[in-house]
Amino acid sequence: MKKAIIIGSGLGGLTTGVVLAKNGYRVTVLEQNAQAGGCLQCFTRRGVKFETGMHFIGSADEGQVLHKMMRYLEIIDKIRLSRLDTDGYNVISLCGQEFHFPNGMEAFAERLASLFPAERDNLLRYVHLIDRISTASSLHSLKEGTSGPAVNAEYQLRSVNEVIESLIGDPLLRKVLAGELPLYAGERDKTPFSVHAFIVDFYNRSTFRFAGGSDTVAMALAEVLAKYGAGIRTRSKATSIVCNASRATGVEINGSEFLQADCVVSAIHPMRTMELLRDTTLIRPAFRRRISGIPQTVGGFSVYLHFKENAVPYMNHNYFAYNTDTPWGCERYTADTWPEGYLYMHLCDSPGQAFARTGVILTYMRMEELAPWADTTVGRRGEDYRQFADRRARRLISSLDKQFPGIADRIAHYYVSTPLTYRDYTGTEGGSLYGVAKDVALGSAGRVPARTRIPNLFMTGQNVNSHGMLGVIVGTMVTCGELLASPYLYKQILEVNQ
Ligand SMILES: Cc1cc2nc3c(=O)[nH]c(=O)nc-3n(C[C@H](O)[C@H](O)[C@H](O)COP(=O)(O)OP(=O)(O)OC[C@H]3O[C@@H](n4cnc5c(N)ncnc54)[C@H](O)[C@@H]3O)c2cc1C
Repeated sequence: MKKAIIIGSGLGGLTTGVVLAKNGYRVTVLEQNAQAGGCLQCFTRRGVKFETGMHFIGSADEGQVLHKMMRYLEIIDKIRLSRLDTDGYNVISLCGQEFHFPNGMEAFAERLASLFPAERDNLLRYVHLIDRISTASSLHSLKEGTSGPAVNAEYQLRSVNEVIESLIGDPLLRKVLAGELPLYAGERDKTPFSVHAFIVDFYNRSTFRFAGGSDTVAMALAEVLAKYGAGIRTRSKATSIVCNASRATGVEINGSEFLQADCVVSAIHPMRTMELLRDTTLIRPAFRRRISGIPQTVGGFSVYLHFKENAVPYMNHNYFAYNTDTPWGCERYTADTWPEGYLYMHLCDSPGQAFARTGVILTYMRMEELAPWADTTVGRRGEDYRQFADRRARRLISSLDKQFPGIADRIAHYYVSTPLTYRDYTGTEGGSLYGVAKDVALGSAGRVPARTRIPNLFMTGQNVNSHGMLGVIVGTMVTCGELLASPYLYKQILEVNQ
């Protein structure tokens, strides 16, 4: 049995652990925090649970790609999903109008065509392109022999706005189609259209919240790991990846203990991985420079809302609101214009609930705003930080109150997280929401490889492939494919889904 150490117990680390453990590796997952899960973690205040970094997923209906992946990972029967409104899972509020996105590409095109009749043919071309790009990736469609790399290569090099503008004539419709930008922190002239296509396709096929919180996914994965004899060690921070002259020999934990390994998979931000490799010359300076030169997605500011009892009807969709007349450029806010837009969601306790107990408002915040507290740690940032965060929370709530009059009075308590919170809990560079940012100008130079120059050291997690529930799991399959051979892994996934 080969011994594998996985650094980080986020979705990427846990799923990589499951795949390797199912395939005969002796797996140990290391987690620096007291709780496993990374962005899947929840926190509880006054007996009420809040999700921090995973609120809704797509493509999870029987027969769809995430469902198949979750069945292979043996968690499909261990978690409970609650379906969002199929007639409008996402609502975009822009220029004084609301646009509802229904599930299914045809329904989506038809709904928007009913509002923009002159754009019907263009909308059909748009949805056809989304479908072509997402199914061209064999791991996203689980169909072999697709037209694959060529289609994706083209749309990795063309930006979201460029492609939308080439297909759609109406200026308002162009903005509506970009209304889900916060789901991938999309930026004008920078974010590849392929990123947009995968996210749109993922959620459009079917959309769900986790009933009972996203930490149920982490708990389910931990259960599967235990079934295969694998363990998660919490409060175990990897402090060095130890190498000899040619390969990794193991991992140092908390600056003292050494754990031997036959292979190491780092499921943390790649810049953190480079720091763990500071004592080896096996990684070339040019590679280190390339990794540290990749831009990051913008940070996020969240306000977690605890509503008064039976005061807020449960909203079975997500609400994207923009205070300006465009979804573009919200990351370039000024002190006066913040927040230019936000995403508002309710959290699901159990399917069919009439009232929401909790909700979250998520908006952008750049790390530079938090420079005065850059050297502080969780719980020790001082009174001025608390006041700053509270002022911003009040502004965000007041923005929400304009869209949903009276909501502010129905909030019993609220809690706040900033990019510093994510930096310190997950190790994401600069508190970035989704890790590294894809950039059309960088192309493959902006990609994080699953394989490194050290033959038994691999990388996984949201920075390899893509962020999000499906993006990370696909990244896991890519990384594990390096260890187990991709066609073999692919066959396993298809077999359990027959
Ligand atoms: C606010 C927010 C909302 C989101 N909403 C959604 C959503 O609704 N749907 C969706 O699909 N995706 C969503 N995402 C994205 C999704 O949560 C992430 O892409 C995914 O969970 C990342 O998983 P990961 O394993 O790559 O990294 P992480 O979850 O960041 O896990 C990394 C883990 O490594 C640990 N670690 C770091 N350094 C060390 C070390 N040296 N030693 C040991 N452990 C270490 C960290 O503590 C952490 O537990 C959201 C993200 C954010 C931030």
